[in-house]
Amino acid sequence: MTSRRVSRLLVALLTAGTMIGATVASPSAASADASIAATVCYNTSQAGSFAGIANQAATIWNNATVNLTLSNCGSNLRIYQITGGGSYAVRTSLGNGRVYIDTQQAAQYNPLRIMTHEIGHILGLPDNYNGNCALLMSGGSAGTSCTNPYPSTAEANRVSNLFAGTLASTDTGSQVFRDSWPIFSAAPVG
Ligand SMILES: [Zn+2]
Repeated sequence: MTSRRVSRLLVALLTAGTMIGATVASPSAASADASIAATVCYNTSQAGSFAGIANQAATIWNNATVNLTLSNCGSNLRIYQITGGGSYAVRTSLGNGRVYIDTQQAAQYNPLRIMTHEIGHILGLPDNYNGNCALLMSGGSAGTSCTNPYPSTAEANRVSNLFAGTLASTDTGSQVFRDSWPIFSAAPVG
């Protein structure tokens, strides 16, 4: 009798615990549903051989974020292929600007990582040169051997929250981001 009473109490406690869990979880799910979906239209007409990589980078950002869609549908974000001078991003406002990918640099650093990183600036992320390859915004500080093209959960959540309007930031305006990928001087021949 005593053990049955204890087990009944356990069931009651477990049920209560589950209900509390569900109650806590629902407000955040509701606010995610309520946020406005945003679309960033990009244009690869001048991206040259990097057009396909731009599409891959868009898919990565779409999969990592909530209520944000990058689509090849217009000119919020223009992507250019350049030769020399280094890859960089020019953000005019959140979700708007231009990304330049340097062919020479893309032969040293992973081109998809460069692309997702530079687009990350357009989506509101600053550089974070701490050498951590798990971060996308560590850029070239993680070295040429780092090929990770994915934003961390924290990086992706920051973008989601910026576009949802649930994170206010004064750092999403007009800004140029250069030197994310240090120029790698080739080893002397012979
Ligand atoms: Zn950068």
